[in-house]
Amino acid sequence: QQHRRNPSSGLTGSQQARLSSLARDLACMNGLLLKDNPASSSSGSAAPDRCMMAPITLVPSSFSKEAFNQAVELQALFNSLYHRVSRDHNFLCRVIPPAAESDSFLSALWDMYQTVRQSGADQPITLALNRADYMLDEEAGLKQVEINLMASSFGGLAQRLSTVHRQVMSAAGVSERQLAHRLPDNRPAETFGEAFIQAFKLYGRPEAAILFVVSPDERNIFDQRTLEAEIYAADASSDSPVHVPQILRRSFDQIASSARLEESSGRLYLADQEVAIVYYRHGYSPDHFSDPAGVAWSAKLLMERSRAIKCPSLAYMLANTKAVQAALCEPGAVARYLPGKSAKVEATFVDQCVLSDSRAHRWLLADPEDFVLKPQREGGGNNIYGRDVVDFASRLTTRQSAAYILMRRIRPQQQVSLMLKADQRLSRRPEMPLCVSAISELGIYGALVAKNNSERLNCSAGHVLRTKSAFTDEGGVATGFSCIDTVYLV
Ligand code: ADP
Ligand code: MG
Ligand code: MG
Repeated sequence: QQHRRNPSSGLTGSQQARLSSLARDLACMNGLLLKDNPASSSSGSAAPDRCMMAPITLVPSSFSKEAFNQAVELQALFNSLYHRVSRDHNFLCRVIPPAAESDSFLSALWDMYQTVRQSGADQPITLALNRADYMLDEEAGLKQVEINLMASSFGGLAQRLSTVHRQVMSAAGVSERQLAHRLPDNRPAETFGEAFIQAFKLYGRPEAAILFVVSPDERNIFDQRTLEAEIYAADASSDSPVHVPQILRRSFDQIASSARLEESSGRLYLADQEVAIVYYRHGYSPDHFSDPAGVAWSAKLLMERSRAIKCPSLAYMLANTKAVQAALCEPGAVARYLPGKSAKVEATFVDQCVLSDSRAHRWLLADPEDFVLKPQREGGGNNIYGRDVVDFASRLTTRQSAAYILMRRIRPQQQVSLMLKADQRLSRRPEMPLCVSAISELGIYGALVAKNNSERLNCSAGHVLRTKSAFTDEGGVATGFSCIDTVYLV
């Protein structure tokens, strides 16, 4: 039974100190870093090269091999499911408008989707870089938290963390044979890079560039840089390299001042450079569009009207909403898209519905502590939990409550986690990891490249674990709640 132990248990104090020092060095050496937060520096603007170690766990966390494999196998089905949902205009017409009615951000996206659709702009090629998130419920097994079809992050850092964790475990005395067995191969950024190149080739303009739409003050930049490097590497090692000329990084502001749409061809240009793929790592939240002049919205509209491949498209952004997630839980909904294969997917769903549904009222009467309330938002920090739910819900009109979903809470098993955070100087023993009773959320990456309905690539692409204290409700590495982690299969 020794192997069933969590790798963090059984390490003596001196082992923990020695391995922490190694892990911190390896983390920095491998680029497991975040840019400094400008707001936290005394001058208010951080030097451009100031970084800190990303929050990581010292060693991987144990995770059921069976459940992990189940999630990996499901990924291609989830990729197909959401691809088909995004192409089902009637379904989106049924689900989105009620949720958008009292949500100005979703309503702006919905309007833009319709405008672009009516303009006849069409790009048959899809590049989807997804991440399906799960928790392993103590009683019910693998359960879906949500799926991300936009700006799915940490694939680059997770890939690097797998390298670090392997070395730390080896230094802890675990044999190579055990490691090969327990630590799955993990290369999300590499697989995403290959998907990029495949989509780029389908676009068919070798001189065009790839555009990353980024936040002007991005902290998780090395995750994105890893992906850039993997795009170039995937090209170089492909059968017929196209020598991708450039990967541009631009904010909405910069795009607004230099982008141009050639109306006759629908091609998108930045200055004189044609853009083949617009990859959004920004623009998933209303505060990314908060400039009063609406510059970000017009930059987005211009890109959406072009024939550049968008990752994700507006239809994908709409499919990514919690409203769609809840609608897919209705009986028969998944089966319409995945005939004969829906049961495995549905087995990961927990009870959820729109808050205006009568079921929600009954559930809240029975046990409010057992539910999470979610608005149509991304990026963490938006949900309402436990006792606050009833209070919050009671202040909403029926129309407003259609913009929220109520979801049954998943209760994962706790395990001891040893965490390394950048700034532990204030802790009593800064050389030691923080010992935390923690729960983990598994993210499985997936890539899909398609032309219309025809899938050219559809695969799972590795994993990340995000581990947080069992006593905080929300997750999020960027928000400071969670550590990046990987699985130790048991
Ligand atoms: P976002 O798109 O903002 O990441 P999520 O649905 O992932 O929204 O919710 C954010 C966090 O809230 C998750 O990472 C998880 O920690 C917690 N959470 C969400 N849904 C549940 C649930 N049903 N049970 C337990 N925790 C949940
Ligand atoms: Mg999300
Ligand atoms: Mg999430």
